[in-house]
Amino acid sequence: MSTTERPRILVVGGGYVGLYAARRILKKMRYGEATVTVVDPRSYMTYQPFLPEAAAGSISPRHVVVPLRRVLPKAEVLTGRVTTIDQDRKVATVAPLVGEAYELPFDYLVIAMGAVSRTFPIPGLAEQGIGMKGIEESIGLRNHVLEQLDKADSTTDEDVRRKALTFVFVGGGFAGAETIGEVEDMARDAAKYYTSVKREDMRFILVDAADKILPEVGPKLGAYGKEHLESRGVEVYLSTSMDSCVDGHVVLKNGLEVDSSTIVWTAGVKPNPALARFGLPLGPRGHVDTSEKLQVQGTDYIWAAGDNAQVPDMVGRRAGNPNAWCPPNAQHALRQAKVLGDNVISGMRGFPQKEYSHANKGAVAGLGLHKGVAMIVMGKVKIKVKGRLAWYMHRGYHGMAMPTWNRKIRIFADWTLAMFLKREVVSLGAMETPREEFYEAAKPSPAPVAAKADGDKSKTEGEKAKAS
Ligand SMILES: Cc1cc2nc3c(=O)[nH]c(=O)nc-3n(C[C@H](O)[C@H](O)[C@H](O)COP(=O)(O)OP(=O)(O)OC[C@H]3O[C@@H](n4cnc5c(N)ncnc54)[C@H](O)[C@@H]3O)c2cc1C
Repeated sequence: MSTTERPRILVVGGGYVGLYAARRILKKMRYGEATVTVVDPRSYMTYQPFLPEAAAGSISPRHVVVPLRRVLPKAEVLTGRVTTIDQDRKVATVAPLVGEAYELPFDYLVIAMGAVSRTFPIPGLAEQGIGMKGIEESIGLRNHVLEQLDKADSTTDEDVRRKALTFVFVGGGFAGAETIGEVEDMARDAAKYYTSVKREDMRFILVDAADKILPEVGPKLGAYGKEHLESRGVEVYLSTSMDSCVDGHVVLKNGLEVDSSTIVWTAGVKPNPALARFGLPLGPRGHVDTSEKLQVQGTDYIWAAGDNAQVPDMVGRRAGNPNAWCPPNAQHALRQAKVLGDNVISGMRGFPQKEYSHANKGAVAGLGLHKGVAMIVMGKVKIKVKGRLAWYMHRGYHGMAMPTWNRKIRIFADWTLAMFLKREVVSLGAMETPREEFYEAAKPSPAPVAAKADGDKSKTEGEKAKAS
């Protein structure tokens, strides 16, 4: 951290909003006008819409993340967590990766800490569940699923095999439906490399408490998405929830019970709970209460946007819905970040603030190779597309929305290579414990156990002689 004479704009969170807002501020700022400091516990931004494809191995995981120091060379990037904000003193407390926490003074503040998985106190969930919010989880899921095929192929125990080949996904929104679509596609495709695991031996289950999946693309395409997954053999249970999953024994409210080694939790998100320590005005569900100008209510030097903010949806409100709020998605996060960046500059220079208003442009979802659904909104017309064309639209949209040309090119190169070289099906589960094998080799050997004088058949004559 540098000390600075210039005013400091502190951006808390280097995700979608944090990265784009910081870039915008740096682009519009005059030379030396302010110091932009971005604090995030990770040194990279994650393009979350690509996590399902990274889990399926269609994209290299490293290409789904954007290194903050590389794309924000003029910003001060600190790897750590903001733990508290003192508004009276205009000071944030930062807990760095290592060492003591320290105080960081600021003049202007951007709150962009996103959301965390929304969970419930379900017995077994904390021990068994796999989330889908970060690249680490996506890589972990891929390795885990392929490892289950390895286990099933090499065991003689029918119960172990069945449990390994049963995959349960809870939550059928964007994240859940796309992840099960991609992972099912990858796992069944990988079955051709196993001698005793057949495509039809695997059981995929999608559970949602709502009566539909993919609410983001509307009821008709959501229904298509469900039928499509079912046609691929995925069991979809709606209007039901998971009661427990202790030791992988999954019990659903509708009475279904299965044993599964893979329980993926994608049942929605909630605003980052750390916000509760910031002393900012919060809405009923824990979001920062933010005006249509993206300023935190009651302040003129703090802005918030994205999944951690409740931002009025001005298009909905003008259409007569006084309770319309922007949904937590990348489409809004990206556009809010740009308006937010402009407003920070205006705020610093004493100019008026701009209102954020964006009409929904639709949604695209990929459900595995060559499969997808899309809804494009053009004024009052909604165009619904499904199948291969929707999948191309999904790839085209997200490929181009990926920040920086460097990442865009890498993503398109991954897709092009996969067309010719086929999908990679190797599980690198041991990556999670890379030192284990070396430790086994290098650890001090235990003291030799004194052999019983007679009858110790495991020792050679020479060893017996030495022992005696
Ligand atoms: C699997 C998945 C698929 C998705 N697919 C789509 C899709 O197809 N279309 C779409 O529109 N949206 C999609 N979304 C949603 C979209 O990714 C989010 O709406 C978007 O990322 C929100 O941006 P954000 O900046 O608010 O939060 P994030 O991008 O999550 O960034 C928050 C940042 O804050 C950091 N942070 C957290 N705590 C602290 C702290 N204490 N101090 C400092 N930094 C902190 C985090 O490390 C993170 O980098 C998907 C989400 C997921 C998980």
